[in-house]
Amino acid sequence: MKIKYLGTAAAEGYPGIFCNCSYCQEAKKLGGKNIRTRSQSIIDDQLLIDFPADSYSHMLQHYIDFPNIHSILITHTHQDHLYLEDLGLRCEGFSHFINGELTLYGNPSLKAKFSHIYKQNPNDTHLSGKLDCVELVEFIPVPIENYIVTPLLANHDKNEKCYIYLIEKENKLLLYGNDTGWFPEATWQYLSGKKIDCLSLDCTHMKYKEGSNHMGFPDILELLKQLDTLHCIKPDTRKILTHFSHNGHLLHNDMEAFAFPYGIQIAYDGLEVVF
Ligand SMILES: [Zn+2]
Ligand SMILES: [Zn+2]
Ligand SMILES: [Zn+2]
Repeated sequence: MKIKYLGTAAAEGYPGIFCNCSYCQEAKKLGGKNIRTRSQSIIDDQLLIDFPADSYSHMLQHYIDFPNIHSILITHTHQDHLYLEDLGLRCEGFSHFINGELTLYGNPSLKAKFSHIYKQNPNDTHLSGKLDCVELVEFIPVPIENYIVTPLLANHDKNEKCYIYLIEKENKLLLYGNDTGWFPEATWQYLSGKKIDCLSLDCTHMKYKEGSNHMGFPDILELLKQLDTLHCIKPDTRKILTHFSHNGHLLHNDMEAFAFPYGIQIAYDGLEVVF
């Protein structure tokens, strides 16, 4: 399996869209891996995870074949993970020679927002066969593309059932867990004994502890210990952190120096990991 990170920032981007803090100014000056757009990843050039407003620039920058993407997993409906309005452009007039349907998969809030925007008028068929939305139920595995995808509960926005995803193909298992604090008990129970090949986690607050809504590095170390106790970690499990905020007060090289001694990798926009 290959995961490519297209965007690795928290909601406001890094540098933050309107921020004047010294970390954002330094990120702009240094450029390169310090420039982080909003969260999005793609598995095997085929299965997208999240669809922020930065998706269009990701398509251009990373040569992603959006017209031929047919499945997107949405973790939750915050603006840095979902820009529903752009998806409506997958209709005749805005897009020609459309190949098959694009299906969004996610939580009940996604389904409700999708229906509100696109299904208000039952006679409106301009997107039928071109764009659809399927609600997933937590802890129920479903086949999507060539994968078995299981949504697990995150600990994030308390007004919405936010998901993290277990994605399995050919005996390889990815846990894609951005935008979560310390996992809920039911998620720990589900994960117990599952051997994870690649672990991708939110580290929004970087060196600061958080754990109720997002993670910081101290939370990550505790979480890895718990996963180890539950026999989820193997000697070769890849451990990758993403979804960084400027409020974590570290630039890319400093994050790497911070995480390296623990065998943890820091994602950046464009990073590809094969496992
Ligand atoms: Zn986020
Ligand atoms: Zn800032
Ligand atoms: Zn969020």
